[in-house]
Parts: sequence; structure tokens; C-alpha cells
Amino acid sequence: ILQTVSNVLEQGRFSLLRVLGKARLVVDATAGNGRDTLFLAEHTPPEAHIYAFDIQKEAIQKTRAVTAAYAEKIHYLVCGHEFLGQIVPEEIDVAVFNLGYLPGADHGITTRTETTRRAAAAALTRLRVHGICLITVYPGHPEGSAEADMLAGYLSRLPVHEFTVGCYQLMNHKKTAPYLYLIERTGRRCPV
Ligand code: SAM
Repeated sequence: ILQTVSNVLEQGRFSLLRVLGKARLVVDATAGNGRDTLFLAEHTPPEAHIYAFDIQKEAIQKTRAVTAAYAEKIHYLVCGHEFLGQIVPEEIDVAVFNLGYLPGADHGITTRTETTRRAAAAALTRLRVHGICLITVYPGHPEGSAEADMLAGYLSRLPVHEFTVGCYQLMNHKKTAPYLYLIERTGRRCPV
């Protein structure tokens, strides 16, 4: 039986569909096995550009294989997402962060608090109005728990006239279960 409410990843992806249909520039900040990149590629127009980051060469190789049918619109980057600001040229419609480590690979290679903060800030700075940033958090391992604390503080302080931050969490599951943030840019700071 397919579960719906408990499928956190699917809930997150579903929330992106409306924006993806007209997206021009999309970022997968943690390409991993390529499942998210494939979803983004399948739901964006042919002329869209997708930037897929991962620090592991093997992850980018897997992503390249899984998304071969869409390779023309994907920029595959063996690169930390903390360099996103120097690489992504324009406003972002959708940015996806699926944090943590690659299942089945070295669990020591994981996203980290400081670089995640820098990358999230860069993505949010470049997010166009009504663009969405999706961040999936895995608090069940030590670095993930530190990232979860950092994100709760950072995201809850984003200015309300510029961003709306939502959280999808399974309230009666373990506290260590994954959950997600959806951040929409709702406006821009007035120039002074
Ligand atoms: N989105 C992937 C998928 O659909 O298969 C799963 C991503 S996995 C949970 C997290 C990934 O983040 C790992 O592949 C890891 O190598 C990558 N990663 C860790 N630190 C990173 C960084 N600084 N920049 C980019 N990717 C990073």
C-alpha cells in the first residue's frame, strides 16, 4: 500500500509542481543518486536550465546516468553547493536541498552546518518572487541534528515581508524522522 502523508519526500516534490511548470532556472543542491534531479528534469520546460551539485564524483556520475534523457538541460557539477552564488547566473525558480548522506555510500560524506547555511543563504538571495526552496532535513544523525538546529534558527528569522517559511513534519512519528521546509519568496526588500 502506498502511503501518502508519511511520504515526506513526495509531499515536498508535489509542492514544487506549480512553479516547475514555468521554471527557467532550477537548482538541485544535493544531486546524490539523481532522483530529485530526474523529478526536476521531468517537470520543467525543455528550455529550463538545471544545476545539479554534489561533492561526490560518483554521485554526479549516477545522476548523469539516471537523467541521461534530459542531459541537454542539466549542468552536472562536482562542486560544493556553498559555491552556488558564484556559479548560478540568474534568478532561481526552484532550489532543492535533500540534506545528509547518500544511502548506501560513505555516511561520513554528509552535508554540514556551515556549508549548508552558506548555500541556503545563496539560494534564498537568488530566489525569484514566488520561487520556492525545498529543504529536507534528517535530524537522526549527529551532523543532521546540528543542521536541523541551525536551520530552525536561521529560517524562523527570515524577514516576513520577503519570505514565508512552512514546515511539513510528522507530528506523531519519532522526533528523528525526516521533515521538510518550504520557503517561498513573497517580496523583495524595498530599496532605500
Ligand atoms: N537528492 C538525492 C537523490 O535524489 O538521490 C539524495 C541526496 S543525499 C541525501 C545528500 C547528498 O549531498 C550526498 O550525495 C552528498 O554527497 C551531498 N553533499 C554533501 N555535502 C555537499 C555539499 N557541500 N555540496 C553539495 N552536495 C553535498
